[in-house]
Amino acid sequence: ENLTNQIAAGEVIERPASVVKELVENSIDAGASRIRVDFVDAGLKEIVVQDNGSGIARDQIDLAFTRHATSKINNEHDLFNVSTLGFRGEALASISAVAHVEIVTSSGDEIGTRAEFSGGVKKSQEDSAAQKGSKITVRDLFFNTPARLKYLRSPRTETMKIVDIINRLALGYPQIAITLSNKGKILLRTPGNGKLDQTVANVYGRHIAEKMVAISQKDADFEISGLISKPELTRSTRNFISILLNGRYIHNFKLNTAIMEGYGSKLAVKHYPIAVINIKVDPLLVDVNVHPTKQEVRLSKEKELSRLITSAISDSLIARTE
Ligand code: ADP
Ligand code: MG
Repeated sequence: ENLTNQIAAGEVIERPASVVKELVENSIDAGASRIRVDFVDAGLKEIVVQDNGSGIARDQIDLAFTRHATSKINNEHDLFNVSTLGFRGEALASISAVAHVEIVTSSGDEIGTRAEFSGGVKKSQEDSAAQKGSKITVRDLFFNTPARLKYLRSPRTETMKIVDIINRLALGYPQIAITLSNKGKILLRTPGNGKLDQTVANVYGRHIAEKMVAISQKDADFEISGLISKPELTRSTRNFISILLNGRYIHNFKLNTAIMEGYGSKLAVKHYPIAVINIKVDPLLVDVNVHPTKQEVRLSKEKELSRLITSAISDSLIARTE
């Protein structure tokens, strides 16, 4: 059982940034309006994620750390109608299989609880005064799977991957106040007031936010909104394109292409826009159960969505020049 947990962990938890992603997604699913993330030594020594979400009841802790236990879906039908970021029930079990994990949490209507898990084994649990919400501390990631450590890139690159995932989650959730710090030094702080342009200013800088234009378009199945850079403001990589499908940051080559097509000939060769594209869709049209990290999804009506994205972008760029 411990071994299967470690194997499963390998699929979901590749690097410190995966821990950050899974924990913050849990905070979002828990309805938090404020999330704080701090890390030390590129996340290998310590990652702390604190939220003011629903918390976990004392007697639900064991379940939360059990593999394939999720409070988010109840039956097969739910699996095709996923509206939360998590649903596989793997993250906490996987993280605690390959690190030391401490959780302090309270659901608000009972005394809080503090528990420790390490290498897949529960170490302790006791009552603890706590505000409503959860604070999860992950120490010494991959301490018992040294081979994993070898796959990691430089501390600088691993740190950038943490920043990147938080940037994208912040862009996807402008209504949540998110703070990211490296050993206490603030790297990102978003206001959580729901304003995407302000979040873009925090993530990419005010000079960039000022050169973005809004997009908005819908059809019977999809609703698209977001901000895209003017054609004269581009980057030499695709990394500044963020596509969020029902709040889930996804990789999708075809949708990237659709974005580029919206710019038509306005975009120079090897130039890519900065874009935050939020897509709302009936969860029944999306199969998110394709890959453990859930960044690849299978979409019904992908062609229709591509066309809608292209026209949303070309329309707003045309409107701007009229
Ligand atoms: P999943 O998110 O797929 O359900 P996880 O292993 O990430 O699986 O989390 C297991 C369960 O623990 C969740 O279903 C949820 O009930 C609970 N949980 C985890 N993190 C939090 C949190 N920050 N606040 C409240 N509940 C949480
Ligand atoms: Mg989760």
